[in-house]
Amino acid sequence: MQDLTGKTALVTGASSGLGLHFAEMLAQHGAHVILAARQTDALDDAAKRIITKGGKAEALSLDVTDSASLDHAFAVMGTRLDIVVNNAGISLPSAAIDMTETDFSRVIDTNLTGVFSVAQRAARAMREGNKGGSIVNIASILGLRVAGHVAAYAASKAAVVQLTKALALEWARYGIRVNALCPGYIETPINRDFFTTDQGKALINRIPQRRLGTPEDLDTPLLLLCSDASSYMTGSSLVVDGGHLVSSL
Ligand code: NAD
Repeated sequence: MQDLTGKTALVTGASSGLGLHFAEMLAQHGAHVILAARQTDALDDAAKRIITKGGKAEALSLDVTDSASLDHAFAVMGTRLDIVVNNAGISLPSAAIDMTETDFSRVIDTNLTGVFSVAQRAARAMREGNKGGSIVNIASILGLRVAGHVAAYAASKAAVVQLTKALALEWARYGIRVNALCPGYIETPINRDFFTTDQGKALINRIPQRRLGTPEDLDTPLLLLCSDASSYMTGSSLVVDGGHLVSSL
């Protein structure tokens, strides 16, 4: 797989879960990684760990829903960016009939508007730097099918899939590729307990491969989309889900 030496990669929501894993993985493949999230304490520790292992990393404070924070972060990064992993996201599960408008808006603001705000600023910087780049939006299989109690989340991720295609169309002229990664259910610290419950086990039984994904299952697909190995791919949505989307109806 492609070596990312010499490339600079921004990963949003890099303080935990998949974002932290993605940042470490991209650094292992040679990228200078900018780990961004709202709380910089965890980011500083993660950046130090990467540097101790011989990688290149820095921590950056960024709230994807806050214009001032976005403007400051992109001023710090300047035109260095080659790769963006638009990973920050929230879920706030609730029965649709009970969900507050405030919570609905929070999910859309983070998962959809946040993805656009980061992608637009990154594209402007890449255009100014005149070197193109790769933007990978982390969507979900819930952007392609639905489940109970995640109406806002599923709507936001479906919109990210469509946004990815629209941005790919407009930004190909600048040499900027925009693709989406659609993971199925991936085991991370925040959902591990749920998957030991009867409901969680029943969910795993509906996945054709009868197992959850691991963060490592996403490594090669993400690396593909980030690197020049996918130089003729843009506007695509890559599903990595153990066959969950093709489970029998
Ligand atoms: P997580 O909660 O562990 O990580 C989310 C990260 O986003 C955290 O670091 C959080 O601080 C950050 N974040 C939230 N709001 C933010 C904001 N306003 N500004 C900046 N950062 C913010 O969850 P995760 O499971 O690691 O999910 C990461 C991404 O992958 C999300 O977009 C999620 O929707 C997607 N995803 C996860 C799974 C899964 O099974 N874990 C499956 C499909 C898609």
